[in-house]
Amino acid sequence: MTALALAAAVRSGARTATDVLEEHLAVIDRLDGEVAAFNLVTAELARAQAEAVDAAVARGEDPGPLAGVPVALKDNLCTRGIPTTCSSRILEGWRPPYDATVVTRLVAAGALVVGKTNLDEFARGASTENSAFGPTRNPHDPSRVPGGSSGGSAAAVAAGFVPIAVGSDTGGSIRQPAALCGVVGLKPTYGLVSRYGLVAFASSLDQIGPFATTVADAVACLEVMAGHDPLDSTSIPEASPALQGVLADGVDGLRVGVVSELLGEGVAPEVATRTRQAAEALAAAGATVEEVSVPATRLGLSAYYLIAPAEASSNLSRYDGVRFGLRVDAPTTGEMMERTRTEGFGEEVKRRIMLGTYALSAGYYDAYYGKAQRVRTLIARAFAETYADHDVLLSPTSPTTAFAFGAKTDDPMAMYLNDVCTIPTNLAGHAAVSVPYGVGDDGLPIGVQVLAPALGEAVMGRVAAALERSAPTTPPPTLGSRPADATTSGTDTSAEGVR
Ligand code: GLN
Repeated sequence: MTALALAAAVRSGARTATDVLEEHLAVIDRLDGEVAAFNLVTAELARAQAEAVDAAVARGEDPGPLAGVPVALKDNLCTRGIPTTCSSRILEGWRPPYDATVVTRLVAAGALVVGKTNLDEFARGASTENSAFGPTRNPHDPSRVPGGSSGGSAAAVAAGFVPIAVGSDTGGSIRQPAALCGVVGLKPTYGLVSRYGLVAFASSLDQIGPFATTVADAVACLEVMAGHDPLDSTSIPEASPALQGVLADGVDGLRVGVVSELLGEGVAPEVATRTRQAAEALAAAGATVEEVSVPATRLGLSAYYLIAPAEASSNLSRYDGVRFGLRVDAPTTGEMMERTRTEGFGEEVKRRIMLGTYALSAGYYDAYYGKAQRVRTLIARAFAETYADHDVLLSPTSPTTAFAFGAKTDDPMAMYLNDVCTIPTNLAGHAAVSVPYGVGDDGLPIGVQVLAPALGEAVMGRVAAALERSAPTTPPPTLGSRPADATTSGTDTSAEGVR
């Protein structure tokens, strides 16, 4: 059942939030051992929230647009008094003293927080293999990755554990796992959703956004989370856009450009084929569709892998054994910090710290970081020119379907190439969404990406909804059929516990 259908049932009194919650917790309890989407299931918190929703309905009040909807949060979103690990050892034992703004808004809208989902450590990665808790499995095939870094959130929605999950996207971490897991994943315009309480990766790129099984559910969640927040200085002043009402408007007369550079080298033929089919479907629905060249998009990856690590190395300097989580004792403060960071951070995070520190160091700053910033400006200009005569752009989300565990862990470049289609959007600060569009030769989901200019969420939503209406079906995952001894231990939903 969709989030909107569940909320309608709860708001009308047809179902209780408690009943909806228990049903979802039972599925998580039974099947998360096969997926490992959750770092923590917050059953008691969700039960208290469900009771509050049911009490509001009993009083004749409207508990909000997401009344009784179970929601999972990527474990880099702060939750007051509840462990927030970023799937890193270095935050072991840390409990934030406040909720992220998106958490406050979701709960105020009636949503129930059922848990914190697994991610690549500090959101660096594209497979959820860089997690101190071990990997999350793709619900469509347990031998494949769910994508990343928000792999737990994408898998939780794909597995039917929750109708809505929240993730963060710095270079593709919502859209790429959404594509690999066959769900909708939306990265809003930079500044549309407050990042207060999101543990920072690269502050000039990070955005929070929803995962859902339908475009309507994704935008319903976005409507709740969006809007100005004085606690985030990068939050834009505009009011939250109304999106649900435009989804049925169709695409008649819209101008769609299919980005040639993102259909070529490195993109699997089956993925390119699905993207072309999506473009044809939009043309059949009345849009003007043409291929368009945006050469600067090819520069995105190299600029991103200087800018993002540079910002990351700075943001990660605060984990020094003094204020947060892990501390490995040593005779001097300097040694304590060194040992804490050596033991607390995983390999990929260390690689990013070194890359970023190098890019920012005196003597290399202009050649690397400065140059990358100029490339970023070029990309923004190229998009601005393209959007002068296109309403939206279309591309694959991920160059391939879900890959096998270990396939890219020894080759960082191969892993980084996963985000070749998603990164340009982040560098420009624009919006983009991945919509499931059938499966590849291996039977695994493929996502098509709709890109829009800043604050273009409404037109992007119309195109995404049209794609959804025309999409070949993605068969649902078949969980629960694996023998019990092939699964890891089930997630304990009876109490609060970190797995
Ligand atoms: N895969 C990219 C990276 O590793 C993007 C991650 C993200 O969007 N958080 O940096």
